[in-house]
Amino acid sequence: MADCIFCAIVGGDIPATVVAEDDEVLAFKDIDPQAPVHVLVISKRHLANTAASAEDDERLLGHVLRVGCRVAREAGVGESGFRLVLNNGPDAGEAVNHLHLHVLGGRGLGWPPG
Ligand code: AMP
Ligand code: ZN
Repeated sequence: MADCIFCAIVGGDIPATVVAEDDEVLAFKDIDPQAPVHVLVISKRHLANTAASAEDDERLLGHVLRVGCRVAREAGVGESGFRLVLNNGPDAGEAVNHLHLHVLGGRGLGWPPG
């Protein structure tokens, strides 16, 4: 999608530190990490966010979650714990309108979130 920063990363037009990739998803380090481990898992196909997903996207959403868990394990926080976050809309602080799962870990994460 034009003017989408994450589509530009998928297309190779904007660089990213990629940690995992397959036909459907790309995982790369967040440019402004909020924890020692902060990786984004995105769909290669443009999908605005979880709330905009359709029934046909269920398998993709499940895959994104499972890749997030694998990324966490490979980053060494599988045992210590990690958080998977999907922000939807302004109150959640969603800034990029392309489906992305935050994988956060490596420190104690507060609850409830801010
Ligand atoms: P959200 O607030 O859920 O929309 O999260 C968007 C995330 O994308 C933020 O954590 C940003 O730091 C991150 N981000 C924005 N641009 C880039 C980029 N070029 N490379 C990596 N992460 C990015
Ligand atoms: Zn996009």
